[in-house]
Amino acid sequence: MSAAPARERPSKMRVYNTYTRLLEEFKPITPGKVRMYNCGPTVYNYATIGNFRAYIFADVLRRSLEYFGNEVTQIVNITDVGHMTSDADEGEDKMSKAAREQKKDPWQIAEFYMNAFFDDIKTLNIQPAQKYPRATEHVAEMIAIVAKLIENGHAYVTNGNVYYDVSSFPGYGRLSGNTLEQLNAGARIEVNPEKRNPQDFALWKQDPKHIMQWDSPWGRGFPGWHIECSAMSSKYLGDQFDIHTGGEDNIFPHHECEIAQSEGATGKKPWVRYWMHTRFLLVNGQKMSKSLGNFFTLRDLVEKGCDPMAVRYVLMSTHYRQPLNFTLESVEGARESIRRLTDFRRRLNDASAPADCAALPEILRKGKEGFDAALAEDLNTSAALAALFDLVREVNKLALSRADAARVLALLQAFDHVMGVLGEVKEEGLAAEVEALIQERLESRKRRDFKRADEIRQQLKARGIVLEDFAGGTRWKRE
Ligand code: AMP
Ligand code: ZN
Repeated sequence: MSAAPARERPSKMRVYNTYTRLLEEFKPITPGKVRMYNCGPTVYNYATIGNFRAYIFADVLRRSLEYFGNEVTQIVNITDVGHMTSDADEGEDKMSKAAREQKKDPWQIAEFYMNAFFDDIKTLNIQPAQKYPRATEHVAEMIAIVAKLIENGHAYVTNGNVYYDVSSFPGYGRLSGNTLEQLNAGARIEVNPEKRNPQDFALWKQDPKHIMQWDSPWGRGFPGWHIECSAMSSKYLGDQFDIHTGGEDNIFPHHECEIAQSEGATGKKPWVRYWMHTRFLLVNGQKMSKSLGNFFTLRDLVEKGCDPMAVRYVLMSTHYRQPLNFTLESVEGARESIRRLTDFRRRLNDASAPADCAALPEILRKGKEGFDAALAEDLNTSAALAALFDLVREVNKLALSRADAARVLALLQAFDHVMGVLGEVKEEGLAAEVEALIQERLESRKRRDFKRADEIRQQLKARGIVLEDFAGGTRWKRE
């Protein structure tokens, strides 16, 4: 709804970096300009609301960075090839499997579920990223990185397949906390004889049965899943950027492998400054996932009568590093919380005290301080909401003038830039704007700038709004 407030210098934030396992002060490479990549959907089916926990987290992160005065470039990829049914390179490509099962071609499947994803993010009021690059449209960039990795001694070719040699990259395992010894000890017995080390992962694969194939220096084939994100992120964000996010299951192997690829190809470290991961959305203590069949899509919930904004509220109101158990009752509770906020906002329209309330500025200052401090501490959304509801309780005790109400509304709108659950109410947006103009007119008159004061009156009149001055101030009404 409201634009992010313009600030001279962005405020400080601390974020938890999975890579260092520390809460760190957030400092983008270019001050005030944040470059962020979010691992996006594999478009073989509808996204689950578990997936949406990860995307809503990324959205609230972006909105918070904006709220604190940063400009954010956000890239979300669309995986439409190469993601196997097992994250460890095995099984069938999820796209091919869906195509086989649904008797369609994988391009149709991708198109359909990608559009469904775009519809869902709109319904959930997730701000659109600047770009949604598709893996199938970036195969040339992936081939270039694979060639570079072979040249740098990080990758090798066997029977037309290209593998990353994990033993060539000393940092492998750093993000997830795994060591190669531990991983090898845990590896299954039936080791792929093509690989030098059991943990080596595919960068390029050949499979004559795969429906999506491209020419490459190593023969016709298709890219591995991990190489997609290395290629698309650096294409749009550069060789080094600020934030990379995903769900906790992306830490290993996906993000571990992405680091090995990108740093192995460019030699620049660190590739990503801050790695941020969302804990799972759970159902009865288990990860909500398509493979477990314990999932809801957004559409399932809407069909059951759930308000999408309440779903958004549920997904964003628990701190992203806490596991969250999903229940339909929690959606009902969220709906009630939103209702309290929209009722509060509606009541601001009734404000009619003749004079400004002396206590309000301090209450607003404290409310904002609490909200900002919570967000700045690793995006503690639940504490930020608690600060907001404290503010609502305090403000409810006061008799507000119309100018007071405009101030409260402006703050609520700024908060909602982060939460994204209240939506715009035209009448109220108008009220804030009119009150701001009335205030400006009052100040113009005090400065004896009657020309400007008159201009404001005329400007509002042209929009069908008339001003009535009385002893204690100015009222407005529609003509
Ligand atoms: P996928 O479409 O399977 O590639 O997953 C897309 C994103 O959703 C990834 O970042 C996953 O880590 C994330 N994700 C999947 N399931 C969940 C869940 N239950 N809770 C939170 N994030 C999830
Ligand atoms: Zn990814």
